Amino acid sequence: MQIPFLDLSLQNDRLKMEYMEALGDVLNESNYILGERVAMFEHACCDYFGSKYSIGVANGMDAILLSLKAAGIGPGDEVIVPAHTYIATWLAVTHAGAKIVPVEPDTETFNIDAKKIEQAITKNTKAIIPVHLYGNPCDMVSIMAIANAFNLIVIEDNAQAQGADIGGKKTGTFGHFGATSLYPGKNLGALGDAGIVLTQQKTYNTSLRKLRNYGSDIKYYNDIIGYNSRLDELQAAFLSIKIKKLDEWNSERVVMASKYTLLLEKVEAIKFQRVMTNHKCVFHILCIVAEDRNALMSRLKDNGIGTLMHYPVPPHLQNVYMPLNFKRGSFPNSEKIANSCLSLPLYPGLSDDQLSFVADIIKKHYTIR
Ligand SMILES: *Cc1c(COP(=O)(O)O)cnc(C)c1O
Repeated sequence: MQIPFLDLSLQNDRLKMEYMEALGDVLNESNYILGERVAMFEHACCDYFGSKYSIGVANGMDAILLSLKAAGIGPGDEVIVPAHTYIATWLAVTHAGAKIVPVEPDTETFNIDAKKIEQAITKNTKAIIPVHLYGNPCDMVSIMAIANAFNLIVIEDNAQAQGADIGGKKTGTFGHFGATSLYPGKNLGALGDAGIVLTQQKTYNTSLRKLRNYGSDIKYYNDIIGYNSRLDELQAAFLSIKIKKLDEWNSERVVMASKYTLLLEKVEAIKFQRVMTNHKCVFHILCIVAEDRNALMSRLKDNGIGTLMHYPVPPHLQNVYMPLNFKRGSFPNSEKIANSCLSLPLYPGLSDDQLSFVADIIKKHYTIR
């Protein structure tokens, strides 16, 4: 049995006819940038996420960068980010010209440890970027309390958590901004690059709309140093089809995650991500931490099972951030997760048999080892 780490065709093949129809519509309308389809998808996002405003942008990293810009954050400012995240969270801060201040993850939730944020705040701190990693909501109640106490902007990196919630309130709507990637592999993914920013404030909505479009509201009249970072009509049309499936597909993910947990609960060598009470995790990725991770990874590979590490090298040890001079050992929790994490196949369309087969191989691996 061959089980790839991810097979997007299982989602997209089911929608092929609808995609073709959308392509036909966009061709007929012959309007490819910032037309009706983007506006319609933005409305769908407002409804789905329960957000006052939604602004379509080119990708998830720009969603973070434009949020930082809209909040006026730049050189001289400090931004708190998780030490354990995908590199894009950090790169957006670097592109804005602000200083990165990493905070360690909690070793059980893998998310930024809210208890460690306050000690990282200085007089220059302007913002916190919590990342709902692998689809697991951060402790937003604590984070918003700290942000309010210190008057900080909160930009949620919601790239991995479309549809996750805390007590029914969707992630991405707690902070001043909810920066959301719609990259093909995300829970809500386009057929190319795409992103959306959620915000609850009118002034941010206005700035973000200008920032994504050359600093302009009215064609050929430019007010600020903007970007070209627009969600295009065709992707918006595809996404409007896909967003209707999001809840169903997230439910499939949740069911699969609980099957894995149940099948593997007696295996002491592996640990699952802890989800806080009242938090709904949407399992963008099923990441475990495993003893002897590399051996397990090879064993699964030998049995035709694809896995990935999210992520093998933490941002502070990447070549790009060598100039920041973080030493090995400076963020031990982050390094520990990098050295022991393994993501298992979990996606809409993965069959029960496939899932049980993966769990069986893991169980056998730790009994015969
Ligand atoms: C995917 C991802 C991004 C970047 O999204 P792009 O659309 O690829 O730019 C940012 N942050 C996290 C946590 C991600 O997983």
